[in-house]
Amino acid sequence: MKMYRAAAYMRLSVAGRSETESESIANQEYCIRRFVDEQPDIEIVSCRIDDGYSGLIFQRPSFCAMLQDATDGQINCIIVRDLSRFGREFVETGRYLRNILPAYGIRFIAISDGIDTNRISAKDDLLMQIKSAINDEFSRDISMKTRRALSTMRKNGLYVGACPVYGYLKSNEDKHQLVIDEYAANIVRDIFEMKISGASAAVIAKELNDRNVLSPLEYKKSKGLPYSKNGFTDKSNSRWSASTIIRILKDETYIGTLVQGKQYSINYKVKKQVTKPVDEWVQMEMSHEAIVPYYDFQTIQRLMLLDTRISSGMGKVNLFSGLLICDYCDAGMTRKTTARSGKRYHYYYCCAGKKNGCHSPAFIEEGALEAHVFKGIESYIKEVESLVRRSSQMNKDEVNQELTSGITAQIKKLQNDLDEAQFFTSKLRTTLLNGIISEEDYAWMKADYAAKIFSLKNEIDLLVRETQTIIMRREERVQWLFNISEFAEATTFDRAMIVRLVKNICVRSKNNIVVDFVYAIE
Ligand SMILES: [Zn+2]
Repeated sequence: MKMYRAAAYMRLSVAGRSETESESIANQEYCIRRFVDEQPDIEIVSCRIDDGYSGLIFQRPSFCAMLQDATDGQINCIIVRDLSRFGREFVETGRYLRNILPAYGIRFIAISDGIDTNRISAKDDLLMQIKSAINDEFSRDISMKTRRALSTMRKNGLYVGACPVYGYLKSNEDKHQLVIDEYAANIVRDIFEMKISGASAAVIAKELNDRNVLSPLEYKKSKGLPYSKNGFTDKSNSRWSASTIIRILKDETYIGTLVQGKQYSINYKVKKQVTKPVDEWVQMEMSHEAIVPYYDFQTIQRLMLLDTRISSGMGKVNLFSGLLICDYCDAGMTRKTTARSGKRYHYYYCCAGKKNGCHSPAFIEEGALEAHVFKGIESYIKEVESLVRRSSQMNKDEVNQELTSGITAQIKKLQNDLDEAQFFTSKLRTTLLNGIISEEDYAWMKADYAAKIFSLKNEIDLLVRETQTIIMRREERVQWLFNISEFAEATTFDRAMIVRLVKNICVRSKNNIVVDFVYAIE
């Protein structure tokens, strides 16, 4: 006859919290049964499960029923896989284990923490074990959280630079916040618009110099704004140059993204700055107000890549420059003009040609190409129009809610953790006053909780921002589509419109031209 009639106790915390497989009820039960199999003096007489109850609260139905069994003498042993299943709160857990259970003669075993009240003589030793079990779990939790918090804080980085880029000023209220400098911002908008209309960087620089617009450096000096002493092209009396224009066209600051930590010093003695790999830069979307629409910025980035394919030279580029691709060899296509009996003919041809290995170089007459592409664009715009009509009938809040539901659940979970940490903190003082923990323990536990709370708040902050970014990007997309649908009114096609819509045009023959649009409509 076995001496101990045991209750196996399993618990899963509040529903909605993500549980790992190792925390599942089945796993807990398996662990307890395997343990009991090796104990000749113990048999399991009941299984008690609390599913969806926090370890901070002891008013759990199965827990209470189990204690009733203990008072009735049905059981004289309680087994849990680990102490945190029984209770996660220090004071109450201690009270049960040191006072209540012994009063009924109940043996208590927490398997993975190595706690067995039969093997402990002094009450102080038990207390030590409880303390270390709860602390261990807490430390596991906190080291993971702290690691995450560090990167969170970096990602949350506020503006720390001394000289904001042209177009922005440091806010008077908060020097870590960038605000728009309207005058310079308008110049920046002009630069992007000129680029999208087909002007090269050199042409844009010349245009600004002709208009007597001060260069970024001269402008900052004239305004008494801080400027970088070792900037890229910033000589005194500097005028606009192509490289300044290109730097502006590539700068994500203008779409509201804060990019920091691009460079680092090798060590504190060497002043030289080294550029870090792009994936180590710290980026924060929507950290300040954008000057340039997101989709226009993306279009410009595409154009900058295409620029290598566009023959250099001054002046505006042709309607299709850089967009045409030979379907046989993927090479770009070049425009050529010939005169025949007094008339001029324009056509495009594969720039690789047979001598560079193109099996069947594409060739197309400009008029035929335009007719085909314009027809494609017209039907694309019609589709966009109907998409805009459909999306205007959708409930905006519902769509946003659906888009962000994943993050919202994450935020809720972290909020639970935060509430829990705050609850623990509030209990800590009582724990000290009751003499359960020492002054020393109180000090470090308090500091650890503070770190945990800090990191959780940071994480929540970051996710809230992410939610806002998703909603904002969606609204930008809707706005972009709306702008596209307005093209329906246009009577001619210009370069700006074509690059906003078309990614590339693949030419096989006069009757086989495929227009690849930037935004594919399902
Ligand atoms: Zn070719």
